[in-house]
Amino acid sequence: MTIAYPMPVLGEPELTAAEAVLADAGVRLVVGSVIDPAGVARAKEVPVRRVRAFHVNGMGASPSWNVFCIDNTVAFTPSLGVAGDLRLRADLDAMRVVGDQLAWAPAEMFTQEGEPFPLCSRGLLRKTQSCLESQGLSALVGCELEMVLTKADGSPLDGRPWNAYGVSAALDVEAFLVDLIQACELVGLPVEQVHSEYGRGQYELSLAPTDPITAADNVVLTRLIVGRISRRHGMAASFSPLPFADGSGNGAHQHLSLSRGGEPLFSGGQGPYGLTEEGASAVAGIVAGLPEMLGVLAGSVLSAHRLKPGFWSGAFACWGLENREAAVRFCAATRGNPYGANVEVKCVDGSANPYLATTVILGLALDGVSRRAQLPPEVPGNPAELTDVELAQTGTVRLPDGQSAVLSALAGSPLAGRLLGEDIRQALLAVRGHELNTYDNEDIAFLTERFRFAWSL
Ligand code: GLU
Ligand code: MG
Repeated sequence: MTIAYPMPVLGEPELTAAEAVLADAGVRLVVGSVIDPAGVARAKEVPVRRVRAFHVNGMGASPSWNVFCIDNTVAFTPSLGVAGDLRLRADLDAMRVVGDQLAWAPAEMFTQEGEPFPLCSRGLLRKTQSCLESQGLSALVGCELEMVLTKADGSPLDGRPWNAYGVSAALDVEAFLVDLIQACELVGLPVEQVHSEYGRGQYELSLAPTDPITAADNVVLTRLIVGRISRRHGMAASFSPLPFADGSGNGAHQHLSLSRGGEPLFSGGQGPYGLTEEGASAVAGIVAGLPEMLGVLAGSVLSAHRLKPGFWSGAFACWGLENREAAVRFCAATRGNPYGANVEVKCVDGSANPYLATTVILGLALDGVSRRAQLPPEVPGNPAELTDVELAQTGTVRLPDGQSAVLSALAGSPLAGRLLGEDIRQALLAVRGHELNTYDNEDIAFLTERFRFAWSL
């Protein structure tokens, strides 16, 4: 697939076809959502007769949507204030009928004159994907969604002692899981599997790899479906990096593979596990850039409370074959990996904007390829147990620990400025900086409760 940048305006036949799909399905309301730099989904809804205007003209939104914080404070910046207006344009190519007279579409931000707005995260991923394609590369991204189910009021589910990955844990919410899978399949989400996770009340749904924009859209739509189905079952779902102070963290791991002219870069070559020269440089670029990009991938006030050694969240910038403690887990081309070799970036959490997270991962891979980065030796075991000599030999570093260190690294990174653009970097620093200044000294029990549903739909 080749992607156009900026999002084109559909012609008359496509618009008519989209309206016919909605009419046939009996849709009345269309939700068009964007994800802000703090990872929160915001939206406008229109009656179905306005869907054409939602795509062609767009619906109004204040530029300050880009500096809304997880506590609904607005972290105004010199360029994002109370004046001005934007247009959210729904992407009707990506629209899905959800059911019950509802449809959903991802939206992108434009100026009133119809120019792409530089703070639009989906627009940036579109640009990044188009840049990758113009260099003859193509990427597949597959996302995992970890979540913790709660009672409708947000308190923990009652239950018997929890068996991690247990059949009992799945059967306890059997009706929910059956409805969830069915609802996902009905909207065309490529569900690979669902399972009960390690932490009490924690479940995971993984999605098959697809092109980058669709992968990020799929994360948003899956969260929307999870939200609808959990409500129906008298529950709620938290995607927070740490929903409960004494519970497990939620990752939002992303799997990436790259190919050139149909030939994979992560297998069939002369490097370790069959990495090609370009593939090795792409992996090297990701590993090297993670410390300065963590503010995009796991930048919230709760993120550091999840990203600890020993929890399979990938707290060390290094890579290793099937290594669950490495931020970059290499999955080789075996019969067990039908989509081929890929890398799993594990340090991403549920507070990240998925469009920005994928933009950064692709950007780091491209950066590695363009500067022919050298892949350091792999870390085959637990990076926390490496000696100083081994740390140096493998170039392994602990990812910045704490929101202050994470944001300083982002602020000081020339690469972040290049991959994100200065506007998005400043918006990220504004909203995450507000979290840091306001909540850094709060205790973890308060924080987990206050922001348990900030990243839910
Ligand atoms: N829950 C872990 C995290 O926070 C991941 C566990 C796993 O699936 O490996 O990333
Ligand atoms: Mg998992």
